[in-house]
Amino acid sequence: MISKLDHIGIAVESIDDAMEFYEALGLNVEEIEEVPQEGVRVAMIRCGESCIELLEPTSEESPIARFLARKGPGLHHLCLASTDVRSDDTALRNAGFRLLRQEPTRGAGGCWVQFVHPKSAGGVLVELSEKD
Ligand code: ZN
Repeated sequence: MISKLDHIGIAVESIDDAMEFYEALGLNVEEIEEVPQEGVRVAMIRCGESCIELLEPTSEESPIARFLARKGPGLHHLCLASTDVRSDDTALRNAGFRLLRQEPTRGAGGCWVQFVHPKSAGGVLVELSEKD
């Protein structure tokens, strides 16, 4: 079940450069985490109930590096908080929606995550995330 909009992911060339805008609004980075299996550094900016997630690639093979090369910086995905990502995964799969991975995997912050293909979600990459 989905409980809330967890965060919006934005692909950036540099977290430090992108932060200037958010800091001008009085927002701050809560934490920066490197996620080697995704080839990214992730900065979480608390924004009320939700967060803004800045994604900076750490390697050329990173999906974020490929996104930046293709589209430039900008909105990358939105993330819905799930209370049970495996059951949402199964429900979507059974309903014929396209998921990016065979099954949920570990993402930033140790969460279980799955991604829904943009073609199945109105042109937006959707992340489902369950806190462990
Ligand atoms: Zn995310």
